[in-house]
Amino acid sequence: MARLTLDSVTKRFDDVVAVDGVSVDIEDGEFLVLVGPSGCGKSTTLRMIAGLESISEGDIRLGQTSLSGKRPKERDIAMVFQSYALYPHMTVRENMSFGLEESTDLDDDTIRQKVEDAASMLDIDDLLGRKPDELSGGQQQRVALGRAIVRDPEVFLMDEPLSNLDAKLRAQMRTELQRIQENLDTTTVYVTHDQTEAMTMGDRIAILDGGHLQQVGTPLEVYHKPANRFVAGFIGEPSMNFFEMEVQGDRLVGDDFAYPLSEESRAAVEGSSHVTLGIRPEDVEVVEEGDGRHEFETVVDVVEPMGNENNVYLAFSPEREHSFVATVGGMRSVESGQPVVARFPESAIHLFDAETGAALK
Ligand code: ATP
Repeated sequence: MARLTLDSVTKRFDDVVAVDGVSVDIEDGEFLVLVGPSGCGKSTTLRMIAGLESISEGDIRLGQTSLSGKRPKERDIAMVFQSYALYPHMTVRENMSFGLEESTDLDDDTIRQKVEDAASMLDIDDLLGRKPDELSGGQQQRVALGRAIVRDPEVFLMDEPLSNLDAKLRAQMRTELQRIQENLDTTTVYVTHDQTEAMTMGDRIAILDGGHLQQVGTPLEVYHKPANRFVAGFIGEPSMNFFEMEVQGDRLVGDDFAYPLSEESRAAVEGSSHVTLGIRPEDVEVVEEGDGRHEFETVVDVVEPMGNENNVYLAFSPEREHSFVATVGGMRSVESGQPVVARFPESAIHLFDAETGAALK
């Protein structure tokens, strides 16, 4: 059973707390994506699982067994690095077989078979005789993956493995990696700072900020029910729009608009004097003429065509720069300078405590 458990894991580098009390269970066969901005502690977490970094406090277990005190080679874990870390003087075949020759007592025929099976899974059969400098970035990436796959480990750890590839190849490898992981059914922890990778690849996503785990959930959970303002702003592209509002009885009052609240929303903001109102760009409705409730007169500042849809940047008055963005269907014609009515349907709004950032609704 390859259930990986992080139990209150903390890592300190002198005064810096890089990872602060992180607890998460990664189920057998699960693909967990660890995501967060630069410096949030992703790589450190991965390196602690791999045994490349010691743990200051807490424990990491594989199944029932603590990994504390086990050297990297003694852990049944294979890591794929951003830099691929291939040996330049070795052929692809040698790069893939080297680890097995070193750390197992498998015979040559078995090793050859494992390398060929992995090469075929990764579609690099034709490249086995080449050296790394005779390969494209995408091919090198596959070799690095192949080297992890042949070890048939209990856990894969991947540290931004696609970040050196161009956008098209990255998108292609995203789906391919998912397919391979599903076929092998190997527990995987995948680090990225790219929220699109996180949303598309993970069974679940763990979001880190400042060494703290902010939320763990399926992509849909973290998207629709963000635990706090940080997660809400981090997940989703373009980002959620935020407005600082004061709670005044049955409505919220901000610099540019007031927002009447239903009974349910009023109950949610009970006890808060200031809240942040959030709405995703795709939830903002742009209407010609509305019925008044939850609607605001705005002016189109900039239209950013995205093909099948447009990102429309809206301002509350013509003199002002845009203050929020709405995503509208590409067939809809809107032009810079055009007055439009924007509606924030109450079912779509998120409310966060202004001080703590915790989600209230
Ligand atoms: P990135 O996406 O930029 O790689 P990350 O989320 O992987 O960032 P980490 O590399 O885990 O972040 O770093 C977390 C924090 O720990 C940062 O503040 C970093 O400066 C600090 N840190 C990491 N390694 C060391 C070290 N060896 N000595 C001191 N501080 C370190």
